[in-house]
Amino acid sequence: LLEVRDLTVAFGSTEVVRGVSFTVEAGERVCLIGESGSGKSMTAMAIQGLLPRAARVTGSIRFEGRELVGASDAEFQKIRGRRIGCIFQEPHTALNPVVRIKHQLVAASRIHTGLKKSATTQRASELARMVELPSPERIINRFPHELSGGQRQRVVIAMAMSLAPALLIADEPTTALDATVQAHILQLMDDAAREHGTAVLMITHDMAVAYHTSERILVLRRGELVEEGSAEDILLRPVHPYTQGLVAAAR
Ligand code: ATP
Ligand code: MG
Repeated sequence: LLEVRDLTVAFGSTEVVRGVSFTVEAGERVCLIGESGSGKSMTAMAIQGLLPRAARVTGSIRFEGRELVGASDAEFQKIRGRRIGCIFQEPHTALNPVVRIKHQLVAASRIHTGLKKSATTQRASELARMVELPSPERIINRFPHELSGGQRQRVVIAMAMSLAPALLIADEPTTALDATVQAHILQLMDDAAREHGTAVLMITHDMAVAYHTSERILVLRRGELVEEGSAEDILLRPVHPYTQGLVAAAR
């Protein structure tokens, strides 16, 4: 589904991602883990076409057979939302503060379903119910600031999954939430992904999150992949000292 080969992202002479290669198969759940500043988000942004203008990208990113390095903004826009869903750490970045939840939910899926206005409320409450929002019929009439952080992230998940994308990229989706809400949201994402056969590229600095959400873990250190393995191997038998440190820190 996704094949990243020798990906390098540089700002001036500083390479923040260096020669990174990995693949994600259809329906697979893969995690990119590493400390703050290791280049996780820059790798994710490169796949989504959301890097800052100043970034220089070399190497290859093939998604569904299409080369994305050097693709135009318009091409990226077409892929984002339809084939690649995105969830970020701060749900408010994905939401428009002055638009009611129901209109945002429906806008995310309209391209696909071609809904008439009259069907808007029904489709929106369906999506709200899918992500287990309380009183879905009422909550969809609210504005983003009238929801809790966890509820906002549920809305974002519903938007990202509304078109059943082939790949979901989740960059620290639960870091801003408290522990109980975190577990719930991760479970919800996992259920939604499984139901639609969506592959997930999870990004986190938290080994526990990596282990519980992914089959395979890629370890990133200062822009380079230092280790890759099954979730169990990485947690129980880490080889690289850096990975051993991450595992020790999670105990
Ligand atoms: P975190 O866990 O804190 O989110 P990360 O692994 O996602 O960290 P990145 O955001 O990918 O880290 O950043 C990798 C490196 O790129 C960092 O050292 C950061 O300072 C640098 N960087 C990010 N954006 C820019 C930019 N616009 N110009 C120059 N350097 C940048
Ligand atoms: Mg990041």
